[in-house]
Amino acid sequence: MKKCPRCEGDLLADDRCARCHGAWYDLGELEQAITSSTPKGTGVQATMPVRYLRCPVCETLMTPRVWERRSGVVVDVCQAHGAWLDGGELDRLREWTASARRARGPSADAEEQRLERAASGFGADASARAYVASDSSIASDLADFILGIFR
Ligand SMILES: [Zn+2]
Ligand SMILES: [Zn+2]
Repeated sequence: MKKCPRCEGDLLADDRCARCHGAWYDLGELEQAITSSTPKGTGVQATMPVRYLRCPVCETLMTPRVWERRSGVVVDVCQAHGAWLDGGELDRLREWTASARRARGPSADAEEQRLERAASGFGADASARAYVASDSSIASDLADFILGIFR
């Protein structure tokens, strides 16, 4: 059983922490969670000290990555295994993405397909990264972030 990197309680079977409401996302799970209608790890975070967290799989220190200064969300990343989001952070990412979609207007569907294509190249496909980087839209910012945190 994995331990919560934040409060060191046991994680549930789906890698959520019942105590601090954070959640662990295996590689590839995070972009699904952002667009899912039933994401895990949406509770409100308990008050916890800010510190470096250890990967619940390999126990090396994870790298904190800031998702857009505007959002203030920090994702802790183990490049080999996945990412940790504290309680409430996924909601903030999803809200940010939803408002970005509204701002995009009629081209949203095309952007979404573009995002999916970019996400499918997750982790390895340099051409997908280059494609994302060439587009300054908010959707590509999100895709770029997801690809970039595991770079
Ligand atoms: Zn916890
Ligand atoms: Zn790890």
